[in-house]
Amino acid sequence: MQTIDVIINILILEESRSSDNLVVSLIDKLDNCNFKTISFKQIVQEYNTWQAALPNVILINLDKNSINKSNILLKICTIFPNIPIIFILDNEDLKKPIESQKKALDLEKVGVQDYVIRSNLSTTFLNKSIDYILQTAKMSNKLKHLEEINLHLESQAKETQKLFKTIVDSTLDLIWTIDANEKYTFLNQSWLSYTGQSLAEGLKENWRDRIHPEDLAECVEVYNSALKKCQGFKIEYRLRRFDDSYRTILNTAVRQHNEEGEFAGLLCSCSDITQRKITELKIAKQVQVERILTDIIQDIHSSLDIDLILQTATEKVNQYLSADRIFITKIINKNQLTLLFESEGGSFFTGCDLTKAKQLPNKDLIDNFTKLSQGEIIAANNISLTTMINIDSYDLPRASFALLLVPIIANQKLWGLVCVEQYLPPRSWELDEIKLLKQVAIQLGVAIKQSEMYRELEQLAVIDGLTKIANRRKFDRYLATEWKRLTREKNPLSLILCDIDYFKLYNDTYGHQAGDLCLQKVAQAISKALKRPADLVARYGGEEFAVILPNTEIGGAISLAEQIRLQVQSLKIPHINSPVDLYITLSFGVSSSIPSSGLGFYTLVAAADKGLYQAKELGRNRVVKFDLNEF
Ligand code: GH3
Ligand code: MG
Ligand code: MG
Repeated sequence: MQTIDVIINILILEESRSSDNLVVSLIDKLDNCNFKTISFKQIVQEYNTWQAALPNVILINLDKNSINKSNILLKICTIFPNIPIIFILDNEDLKKPIESQKKALDLEKVGVQDYVIRSNLSTTFLNKSIDYILQTAKMSNKLKHLEEINLHLESQAKETQKLFKTIVDSTLDLIWTIDANEKYTFLNQSWLSYTGQSLAEGLKENWRDRIHPEDLAECVEVYNSALKKCQGFKIEYRLRRFDDSYRTILNTAVRQHNEEGEFAGLLCSCSDITQRKITELKIAKQVQVERILTDIIQDIHSSLDIDLILQTATEKVNQYLSADRIFITKIINKNQLTLLFESEGGSFFTGCDLTKAKQLPNKDLIDNFTKLSQGEIIAANNISLTTMINIDSYDLPRASFALLLVPIIANQKLWGLVCVEQYLPPRSWELDEIKLLKQVAIQLGVAIKQSEMYRELEQLAVIDGLTKIANRRKFDRYLATEWKRLTREKNPLSLILCDIDYFKLYNDTYGHQAGDLCLQKVAQAISKALKRPADLVARYGGEEFAVILPNTEIGGAISLAEQIRLQVQSLKIPHINSPVDLYITLSFGVSSSIPSSGLGFYTLVAAADKGLYQAKELGRNRVVKFDLNEF
């Protein structure tokens, strides 16, 4: 035995226990072989025993004149279905051609792998035959095994395909394939549900017909380039549904290839990202709103210029709203508004005369005054424009109008309104727009309050606490600015300095409190005498007052000083110890100049002071002018 090293168990089957011992004697000479000889009859009887100890090879040795060879063989093959069989033919059988013998016996059908001719039997011959059939059996077993594996793989592939189809059809994603000629080759169930088509209808469709017209150009470019370069892509676009509505989808396409590895089109899968888009948009809007608010708040923090704050706020808000017009009005009273700032989108009225359209919404204000005062927002859509303006003069396609009034509350009072107007296209105010305006209006209210407080503080800083007229700081500032201004204008600037006569004595006589009261009365009297808004009275020192008179000649200044002198005298504030009069009197020094850059304004003060000194010298209760040339 060359190929098999193990012991081979051979079963020799004999039709009857014949006297022909040739086969047995030959087998006996073979190495590595055990054998057993048994009769047909016995094997049928001991069927079960043989099932437990199967031989490797069966040798069938029939009687010379056996008639029913085929039946015998069939029986054997049933008992040993997978054991290779060597059939020993008689010499007489050789008289018939071998093929026809095989056919007659149907040897192959019953599982005979080889046959040997009895007369040719030799050890070598048997050895070769056994070797051969064992090899054949081994091969056929291998083949059988491979077949089994193949079958298993085939059924596995079928299962996988089934699973794949279930997944592809049960996913919510739209999946399809298109070939290199842009023809659909596959559409999944979700696609058919999305489009409301049958598979046949779907496959016939041109893919371009489902894309939103605005997205088509970009899509075509991406698809074309992908098909040309044989590569995948990712793109967002709007895809039409069965109800003709559009949803935004994210399409991820990957390249497909055939078995030869050539490009065979694209496998596309799309998820519906409409909701995500809406959320993204909302977030982006929220970010924009936050930015606008932050900007406005920053403006408020960094500036006290309320006009600038209102103006930039108006512009920033309209960047977000893109309304035809947004403006801020201040409420003077219930029936009167002043327009402060406006920003125009101008989408609709461009080219028209806007003067008529630009009316302040007085009517709406009066109608809603209580609501607005309580901080309520008035949002109106679809107001007829004809009620607002003389529409006939415009060539308007449609007269619809949306108005939004947002109250600005400052110091718990309705200070003004942020008004937004939209003419065309018709518009309903969105919640986020209203929210933004409300927030902005709150911030503006804070800014207004802040700026009013600042103005009050500023006022306090320049007002004398006792007499409530301007203080020395204000006097210095005002005199410097007026001096500069009148230098440019080349117009006269006059100054009156006055001082209460014997005021120390007054205090001594009537007490310090009475002195304070007297100062207040004198300040009021001086203020009363002034007529022009540009004139300024200030408390210059303890019981000294100064009056700045821009654009006033010396003559005018002297006569005004005289008027003040009489005005104070007419108050008849008793001053019994005064050597001048029974009542409080004042002495005046007056100076005047056409300011020039060569002179400082302090010369004007020094001149008036000189005049005042002279008035005291000359007996008090009088007006003395001092000419600047006298220095
Ligand atoms: P003359 O006519 O020369 O100006 O004499 P006079 O006493 O008015 O001048 P003097 O400068 O000697 O005194 C000014 C006085 O004015 C002294 C001061 O007590 C008083 N005085 C200054 N400021 C105030 C004030 O705010 N309240 C009161 N009650 N008195 C003041
Ligand atoms: Mg004095
Ligand atoms: Mg005095």
